[in-house]
Amino acid sequence: MHEFSVVQSLMELIEKYAEENKAKRVVKVIIRVGILSGIEPHLLELAFNTFKEGTIAEGALLVIERENLKVKCQECGAEGEKDELNTLCPFCGSLNTNIIAGQEMLLKSLELECEDET
Ligand SMILES: [Zn+2]
Repeated sequence: MHEFSVVQSLMELIEKYAEENKAKRVVKVIIRVGILSGIEPHLLELAFNTFKEGTIAEGALLVIERENLKVKCQECGAEGEKDELNTLCPFCGSLNTNIIAGQEMLLKSLELECEDET
């Protein structure tokens, strides 16, 4: 499953970050999942819950934010967010557009509980 390898590298990132910040544990993980990324949020959650066992993120809450498809039109220059899954310009209907958001998955924020400085 694609989601498992995604979560595996996500976990590595989380552990590295937590270590760098001397965190005791990870409280919350917020990720953004683009609608075109091919990632199923519920599978991602499943994978996350499997992988977090025994890690610093064991008690972490996973929050998944969906990111809509966004295109920039090469004809009229407009940028727009789309509800439908096509890359037509929402303003002039041109097909000559670039996708500027909605294809990726990224770690948006991490909430850590850190060691007391005492
Ligand atoms: Zn346009």
